[in-house]
Amino acid sequence: MKYTAPRGTRDLKDREAQAFQALEESARRIFQRYGYEEIRTPVFENVELFKRAVGDTTDIVEKEMYVFEDRGGRKLALRPEGTAGIVRAYLEHAWDKSGGIKKLFYIGPMFRAERPQAGRYREFWQIGAEFFGNPSAQADADVLLLLQDLLAASGLTEVKFLINSIGCAACRPVFREALLKYLDSKQGCLCDDCKRRLARNPLRCLDCKKDMAHFSDAPKMRDSLCGACQAHDQELKGLLTSVQFPYEEAPCLVRGLDYYSRTVFEITAPGLGAQDALGAGGRYDSLVKTLGGPDIPAIGFALGMDRMASAKYGDSLSAGIQPNACSRIFVALAGQGTGMTGFRVLQDLRKAGCTAEIGAPGKSLKAQMRWADAWKAGFVVIVGEEELKRGRVILKNLQKHEQKEIEIENLKSEIEEQREKS
Ligand code: AMP
Repeated sequence: MKYTAPRGTRDLKDREAQAFQALEESARRIFQRYGYEEIRTPVFENVELFKRAVGDTTDIVEKEMYVFEDRGGRKLALRPEGTAGIVRAYLEHAWDKSGGIKKLFYIGPMFRAERPQAGRYREFWQIGAEFFGNPSAQADADVLLLLQDLLAASGLTEVKFLINSIGCAACRPVFREALLKYLDSKQGCLCDDCKRRLARNPLRCLDCKKDMAHFSDAPKMRDSLCGACQAHDQELKGLLTSVQFPYEEAPCLVRGLDYYSRTVFEITAPGLGAQDALGAGGRYDSLVKTLGGPDIPAIGFALGMDRMASAKYGDSLSAGIQPNACSRIFVALAGQGTGMTGFRVLQDLRKAGCTAEIGAPGKSLKAQMRWADAWKAGFVVIVGEEELKRGRVILKNLQKHEQKEIEIENLKSEIEEQREKS
């Protein structure tokens, strides 16, 4: 039996693993600047939490969740998104009782049983944030500016911010009626999914990749917004314009999840093909209440790390790592009784901040040199039986094809000197 990674999953390795690390580092730096704290929630939660938060009628809950029963008969699901677990944690730790304001970010894998394709996986990674307790348009602008900084810090500047308002519980029903009437007139060209959505969640039809081309003349939520939602929307746009934030209005933009209200947004990047959404988010003022808490507003987003890495590195993402050759030092052992000194040299080099590796005792020097080459070493320190008697080792500079015998004590300063010259 040959084992492979499950369909829709992959090993993050080489350049891609490095890219993820870099994305995480720059994200953490920017989150700190905006006052966010990290939270790491479990990768599985009670299945009911997702049903309640994400919505029974969404594709995620209906078709894509990995649901299982544990040995105690508990119904659990691998998290398909981050927000539900964070709202659960927010209430569980009673953060709503200490003023309600909380800014949290997360980085981690999510799981959805979608049909895998380029840029769409069953295990994928998200960087996300939730800002609780501030209902103002200023909070929305703050989140969008954070996103812009975060993407720029990750080297992604060629992005588009698409923004819309989907209203609130007061004005959305009016829009829903108008939309239903419109979609009814389009019955003939609706896909099977949209026909189903029509009865349960007609707004989602606007989001349908198959049918959206037919909906250019659909009623726009913007025209049905109530006074308060309209004012919120205007204020947000005013704030964004005042700081020259580049955005596009996207009157047909809705979100796949049920919990959004007012501001929704999506970020796209060129060169990603059909799956060009880098991230998305919006305001979800009723979710905390829906999950049993008080009436606390919130706004958040999630960025897809897999797509961020691919937008940044393109085809070179699958390439192997090319380390800076002179940064790696390989310690080779030649002869009896050299293991102990070799081991000490290795530890000294690592303590001094060098990337160092050691050959296996008993292997021929030739085999160790092949290993050093494959490991892309810049230097090899040969700890040989004869030289050791004189307290010396051989230092080989693999780039310059030079070698010299030196005192063990002078090893670090000699390597530094040679590095500076190269
Ligand atoms: P969502 O939680 O659906 O709003 O998605 C937010 C972002 O996560 C998307 O814009 C994508 O960048 C990323 N994403 C969502 N689903 C997947 C997936 N199956 N594979 C890879 N990335 C995904």
